[in-house]
Amino acid sequence: MLEQTGVPTPTDVSSILPGSERLSHGPIAIFECFQNIPCNPCVEACPRGAISIGLDINERPVLDETKCNGCGICLAHCPGLSIFVIDHSYSTDEALLKLPYEYLPLPKSDQTVDALNRKGEPVAVAQVKRVQQNTNKTTVVWVTVPKTLAMDIRGIAIRREG
Ligand code: SF4
Ligand code: SF4
Repeated sequence: MLEQTGVPTPTDVSSILPGSERLSHGPIAIFECFQNIPCNPCVEACPRGAISIGLDINERPVLDETKCNGCGICLAHCPGLSIFVIDHSYSTDEALLKLPYEYLPLPKSDQTVDALNRKGEPVAVAQVKRVQQNTNKTTVVWVTVPKTLAMDIRGIAIRREG
């Protein structure tokens, strides 16, 4: 289905999600990188050596969950906008997401924005916590979202005035 629509299916997504125990231990990167393409900037970017790609550069990245601390550095280096960070331990009701964002204008801290699912449909309200601009790299926006929807939300949209 991914090949036809570009949108990962629930089966695609469930194949790469960490277990609930790892999620409860704090932030972790999620790699929704499902295609075999010659690409590896994420591997080079990770300061903890948590990402590996086999001898064939076309292989998909594999994350060592024990090494990843969810810093989000790899997000800014991924040309496919395929990486996200989820902190499921953020609070009782909310999760913190770090999302790649390549539109202008950029959102601002404390701004309320729409949270979008993988199809780009608004599904919740998100609160911007931080906008991390990276020179010549992708901006990373930190948002809090309802924990129950954290695995569905993969983008944000600034609300139009009026
Ligand atoms: S979030 Fe940080 S530690 Fe985890 S894979 Fe990315 S760069 Fe490495
Ligand atoms: S940089 Fe992004 S697109 Fe390239 S292999 Fe890593 S996760 Fe996939």
